[in-house]
Parts: sequence; structure tokens; C-alpha cells
Amino acid sequence: MKILIVEDEKLLADSIRLLLEKHGFEADAVYDGDTGDMYVRQGIYDLLILDVMLPGKNGCDLARQVRKDHLGVPILMLTAKSELEDRITGLDSGADYYLTKPFDTRELLACVHALLRRQGSDVNEITFGRTSLDLDSAALRCGEHSIRLSAKEFEIMRFLFQEGGRNLSKEMILSKVWGYDSDAVENHVEVYIGFLRKKLTAIGSDIRIESVRRLGYHLEAAHD
Ligand code: CA
Repeated sequence: MKILIVEDEKLLADSIRLLLEKHGFEADAVYDGDTGDMYVRQGIYDLLILDVMLPGKNGCDLARQVRKDHLGVPILMLTAKSELEDRITGLDSGADYYLTKPFDTRELLACVHALLRRQGSDVNEITFGRTSLDLDSAALRCGEHSIRLSAKEFEIMRFLFQEGGRNLSKEMILSKVWGYDSDAVENHVEVYIGFLRKKLTAIGSDIRIESVRRLGYHLEAAHD
């Protein structure tokens, strides 16, 4: 699980990052809204923790942008102010939860767990066209036919399904599935996309992975 923290109080941002890492998450911290925007647009995070008042774009602008781009990632907003008005603005902009500073680390962790759980709990299957991906068994199914995916295949497929037809660059897939620090190269992505295409064919799926030169991959359903 990857979490992005956008918070201009560096000490706070870094302490949240360390806290999350200590609890088994991968976390990145950036300190201004414009850098935050760049990171957010990669679309590789499972949760965003956004401070409201930031140099550059503020937290509400970022949240609005995320929702405009149809990214369903959960957003936790942090703010020094506890006024009702800020809370409403934050939630209006697309944030899922609001935490007022100063907060206790247990409270933050509880929020993080709750938001991540909420995202995963009610869905154990994602569908595109007539093909579905079972999130518990990692099986890809179309009609009567199903096939199990390997761990990496599953992660790539889930990413493609979640984006619902939006284009994903090889770079985005690499950092989401293999992580920034891995030695994996774009060729790995191509190889796994090849495996996935074979499996889609094997189950007679109505969807296919389209590639756009230099832009990456997206799902397309056959129109019948
Ligand atoms: Ca701030």
C-alpha cells in the first residue's frame, strides 16, 4: 500500500511518513502543492494525506483535481484550523475524512486503516465489459471460463480494471507494481502484458489490452 503525504510542515510530514513506514506502508512525503500535484497525477497511490494550507496548490485544489481526473483514491485532509467552514470546503472538494491538527498518531493510523479498508471491503470483484476480476482469488472470469493470475499479473490487471479504460503508462505500471526502487524495467511490463493478453484469449474474454504508442495500455471492451 502506497501513501502520499503532502504537507508543508516538513517535520510533521516526515514524522507521518516514518510512522506509516513503521506500520508496514510505503510512504512518500512532499512539501508543497505543486510537487504534490505531480506526484498525485502518477495515480499510483492507495491513499492521499493532504494538508489544506500549502504553498502552491492547496489541499482542496488537489482533492478537486483528483476527483476531476476520476481517481477514486481515498483522501484524508489535515488542517490546523478546526472551523466548520474549512471542514465543509474540504469534504466538498472530494476529501473522505478530515483530521484537525494537532492529532494523535493512533487517531491518524485508525483513519488510514479505516479509509483503506473502506476502499477494499465492499468490492471483491471488479468488472469491465463482461469480464470480471475476483480480488480474493485473483481469477479472471468471462462467462463460464476463468483463469488464475500470478501475483504480478493480478496487480497489473487490477490497476487496469480500476482505471476503467483510462490509459496507464508503462512507467505508472512499473512504479505501482514493482515499486520505484526495483530493478524492473519497462520490458517487464511488456512481458506481463503479453501473458495477460494470452490469458484473456484463453477465457474468450470480451475485453482486450490496447496499447497506444508511447502512451501505454488501457482496457477496451468489444462492443456487441
Ligand atoms: Ca500547511
